[in-house]
Amino acid sequence: MPEWAAAWRAARPVAAGVHLDSAACSRQSFAVIEAAAAHARHEAEVGGYVAAQAAAPVLEAGRAAAGALTGFGAADVVFTTGSSHGLDLLLGDWPGERTVACIPGEYGPNLFALARHGFGVTPLPVDGSGRLDPDEAARALAQDRPGLVHLTPLGSHRGTVQPVAALAAACREYEVPVVVDAAQAFAHLDCTDFGADAVYTSSRKWTAGPRGVGMLAVRPGLLSEQTLAGLANAEVNVAAQVGFSLALGEYVAAGPQRVASRLADVGAMTRTVLANLAGWLVVEPVDEPSAITTLLPPDGVDPEHVRARLITERGIVTTHAGVARAPREMTRPALRVSPHVDVTDDELGLLAEALATVTTSV
Ligand SMILES: *Cc1c(COP(=O)(O)O)cnc(C)c1O
Repeated sequence: MPEWAAAWRAARPVAAGVHLDSAACSRQSFAVIEAAAAHARHEAEVGGYVAAQAAAPVLEAGRAAAGALTGFGAADVVFTTGSSHGLDLLLGDWPGERTVACIPGEYGPNLFALARHGFGVTPLPVDGSGRLDPDEAARALAQDRPGLVHLTPLGSHRGTVQPVAALAAACREYEVPVVVDAAQAFAHLDCTDFGADAVYTSSRKWTAGPRGVGMLAVRPGLLSEQTLAGLANAEVNVAAQVGFSLALGEYVAAGPQRVASRLADVGAMTRTVLANLAGWLVVEPVDEPSAITTLLPPDGVDPEHVRARLITERGIVTTHAGVARAPREMTRPALRVSPHVDVTDDELGLLAEALATVTTSV
């Protein structure tokens, strides 16, 4: 493991077991946990509203970092309670036509949100692995311009990295706004060159910040004055925003390029270790540049049951990814493995061994 990745591990509490679930919720550092706790303490000392004023420069730095990492300015960024909140705000205010093009692997809850806001969905063309075909997509956009393109560069259900920049370029050519769900892509892949009109994400995933907070970066004019005023007056967990801001700083300090390249290596290590597991099928190509690996179980094996047994019998945390995560693409549930930069070969070996045992003794 690179020295800086070992430092990433040393900066957080010792895991009780093996944590392979960063795509759901990464492990926070001591500094992030302590910053949030210190803010709560300060609220008790000086009052919640006075403490919020004192924290303003930290939050401003957090917004600046989140903006810089997605190609926006600090003033374009608002804190949210998570990715779904960001999408909901955007769709609620959408000024254009309510039609959207997205890939078949679009995140299920996003499809619900789009339907709730009255958007009609058309599919973007993909290859057999669910990867967007940018040339075919450009042709489709030229023929039938939707009110918006929504793209999730890295899904919750599969480690496939989508070609965002190529799609965004086609969208610019045909003047179709692009909204990017970076819940899995942010602090994982390089998100600076998306050229999107809006990007949203969550704190708890690859950024390793607290739960219940996120951010939305948006081109001026896409959110109404009323929505912005509502956000400014809404009750929020300032301590969580402080923790998120600190986690953003830690990610910038670790080096976005270095993290992206290490997470690609982690994905390859994971898929290599799991490649020969009897009955299980690794979905992604070994060198797919993400740290999300999904496995299809042997017939008769339920990944939800496997996930539970891995936790209770081995202390290994993974995700059960049911078909609701991508209802237009998934046909079977999967087991998702998502280690962070500090995973070891030993830990991946423990997973492989535990999966073999659990599968043969169901
Ligand atoms: C987790 C996730 C979301 C939802 O994020 P919340 O913070 O829970 O609202 C949206 N899209 C993708 C791809 C996700 O992985």
